[in-house]
Amino acid sequence: MRVEPGGTIGIIGGGQLGRMLAVAAAQLGYKCHVFAPDADPCAAGVAARFTRAAYSDADALSAFAEAVDVATYEFENIPASSLAAIHAKLRPGVASLQIGQDRAIEKQFIKRCGGRVGKWMAVDTEADARTAEDQLGLPLVLKTRRLGYDGKGQAWSRVAGSAVETWDSIERQPAVAEARVDFEVEFSVIVARSAEGMVATWDPPMNEHRDGILRRSSVPAGEIVEAQQEEAIRIATGIAESLGHIGVLTVEFFACADGPIVNEVAPRVHNSGHWTIEAAATSQFEQHIRAVCGLPLGSTQRITARASMENLLGNEVDGWPRLVAEPGAHVHIYGKGEPRPGRKMGHVTRLGGA
Ligand code: AMP
Repeated sequence: MRVEPGGTIGIIGGGQLGRMLAVAAAQLGYKCHVFAPDADPCAAGVAARFTRAAYSDADALSAFAEAVDVATYEFENIPASSLAAIHAKLRPGVASLQIGQDRAIEKQFIKRCGGRVGKWMAVDTEADARTAEDQLGLPLVLKTRRLGYDGKGQAWSRVAGSAVETWDSIERQPAVAEARVDFEVEFSVIVARSAEGMVATWDPPMNEHRDGILRRSSVPAGEIVEAQQEEAIRIATGIAESLGHIGVLTVEFFACADGPIVNEVAPRVHNSGHWTIEAAATSQFEQHIRAVCGLPLGSTQRITARASMENLLGNEVDGWPRLVAEPGAHVHIYGKGEPRPGRKMGHVTRLGGA
């Protein structure tokens, strides 16, 4: 399936990733149709059409699928019951979408693809929570198996005997317990795979998180990451290939003393790849559009010596007048409503060198 410029790309999800996908699509001559449940999603502000409906509304999804040439997503928690309505036009496909929906299934899949994951256990009962503390030790992080993002649905247990209480704090949902990974730095591999199976990756960025939320991504990522990136790229590429993924996929890693450990897989463009807009020959967003439309991939070469992307969280976005006055700062404001604490409102990318 090849979608020619002038065609319409459906984007499921209305956040900033959808917005930046729609901007990249416009540059290549495509129109976008956003599908999201929110009243005024920021992606719809730059799209030709918007359908407001729940992700579980199979009729609305069928009508949306009819109206678009290809459908993609910026949000992976589309319920399985809705997939029949769109699967024929969905790129990446259902296998990719489902892998990021459940942390336990994701970890088993990563291992089958040759990746290493940290020590973990499924937690479905109080007894499991206690066993996890006994076997994995403290500190311990409990994460809901489904619907977690940006540190939501996660809680740390640091005090002996508190694992059940920690599980209470995530509402006793089916969870995974993970031992704390003693990493040196975090990084990610962003990989693009075309409809013909051609694969390309960007330089892996080093990622700094605070309270489970990404603060900054930078390239080059430094020696520790550079020593591990070949193996990490092999793992990420293997994951994309086993899924028959078409589009961009991101694998987050912990760089540990004995090599890379996979933290999680996102079957989509990623916050840690925003620097590619200004600092790579082809951005992650354009590359995703190219892949889902059946076009050849562009070059992923880095075109500046350094790039650093910083998120604007909550009311940090109010600092925009200072940022737009800063020479060379590339400011992105997502046009979202309320700047709630921790909400991703924009980002700024700074480049260095030629
Ligand atoms: P996640 O939502 O799973 O990507 O977690 C968000 C962030 O929390 C990660 O990027 C790490 O900084 C931290 N984190 C999550 N799980 C662990 C772990 N098992 N060990 C150490 N840090 C973790």
